[in-house]
Order: sequence, then C-alpha cells, then structure tokens
Amino acid sequence: MKPVEHQADPDPLQEFLLRGNRAARLLSEHVNDGTGRCSVCSQGGQAGHVRWPCQLATAAQRAAERLAQ
Ligand SMILES: [Zn+2]
Repeated sequence: MKPVEHQADPDPLQEFLLRGNRAARLLSEHVNDGTGRCSVCSQGGQAGHVRWPCQLATAAQRAAERLAQ
C-alpha cells in the first residue's frame, strides 16, 4: 500500500472562490442589509433573509484572506 504523503483537504467551495476573483465579487454582493441579514441569501418564505454573514460571505472572506497571504 502506498503511503499517503500529503493528506489534502480539498474544499471545492474554496477552490471555486479562489478563481476569477469570485471571492471579491461575492463579498461585494453578500453584505449586511442593515438589519443584520444577508442582502442576497434568503431562506424563502416568511423567514426572509439569512443572518449575515451568511455561509457564502464567510467562505468568500476566508478565500480572500488566503489570496492576501
Ligand atoms: Zn449571502
């Protein structure tokens, strides 16, 4: 059996966000709408929008920080 030299921790979302400056675009779109909720992501129905930072904003922020390193 081959030893595992590098245990990758692939995060498809991070890889996606790191391409084509998507992280920056998402960060500019998924903003606090002024009431502590994401201006883009909605839960649908009467629940309205999800609390900010939403999962995408959080992931995009993480990707942006990785890009800045
Ligand atoms: Zn959002």
